[in-house]
Amino acid sequence: MPPTKPTSLFIKRFPADWENKPDIVSALQAYETSLVLVAYGRFPHALTNCVSAIEGLLKAVVPNTKGKRLFEVFEEAAKLSSRVDAFSKPGLTELRVARNDFIHSGFSPEDDGKAVDLLVGVGFPFFELCLNEFCSYDIAASTDGEIVIHLNVAQSVHKMATSSGIARLGYCIDSLGHLIRLSFAKRDLSDWAEIADHDDQTGNKFFRLKERKDRLDLSEEMTWLFDCPVCGGFECNMVELGYTEDDGSDLTASAMRCAECDFKAGPTKPFMCEVLMADQVEATKDAIRIEYGLLKDPADEPPQ
Ligand SMILES: [Zn+2]
Repeated sequence: MPPTKPTSLFIKRFPADWENKPDIVSALQAYETSLVLVAYGRFPHALTNCVSAIEGLLKAVVPNTKGKRLFEVFEEAAKLSSRVDAFSKPGLTELRVARNDFIHSGFSPEDDGKAVDLLVGVGFPFFELCLNEFCSYDIAASTDGEIVIHLNVAQSVHKMATSSGIARLGYCIDSLGHLIRLSFAKRDLSDWAEIADHDDQTGNKFFRLKERKDRLDLSEEMTWLFDCPVCGGFECNMVELGYTEDDGSDLTASAMRCAECDFKAGPTKPFMCEVLMADQVEATKDAIRIEYGLLKDPADEPPQ
């Protein structure tokens, strides 16, 4: 009897010959579960799952690792790959120690920032590297595109925040968590479809947007209506913008709130809005500058 295709949530393609690689399939499923735990704010357990994924994978593909402790498994893996050997050893030590602490001593909300820091900065990229090196498997190319986009957002925000010395890093992965919760709500056909239908029939979305726009207009902030980079909603995302150059040429997004999915990001989540909105702001920058009188409209120029 042929094996049943394994359950997957976000992974579209398991490695070729997956029928003969149950340990690798299991590691990928542990990684997916780590993402689900991120969505529901169980960051330390997301970390322990991610480390289980790494350990399961390495023990399946690296010789001489059976029965060995995790630090010894890392050492054996480093002997086989210069890229694995070059990966931050202090980072891997911190990841391993945090995993042990969370397993043996539990965790509190104060551990969230550390867990996200290690997941985004060490756990996820190391898992991806090991899959690449030992299985020739590109997890980014094999995973749902939206998930990959928001994993990359988390990594960009994490990099910018750590470079700026920001200590509380738990928010770096917020847009990914929001996206995953939305995907479950949609799959569930629960309130999502009903709310969407109801909004279309009653015009609720229009009034929500208008109310938010009116409030922002009163605050005299520079605002613009964009598509939502999290739920994909059309022109439902009210964004505040700022600039320091007189001509607005360095325009960036500083705060956002979506009327469709209610995702929001502002000064309490440094760089999140800036990263999420960078492409849309760049594409619309001149239109915004013209609207706010920072740039002359070429259409107003007299013909030569
Ligand atoms: Zn949205």
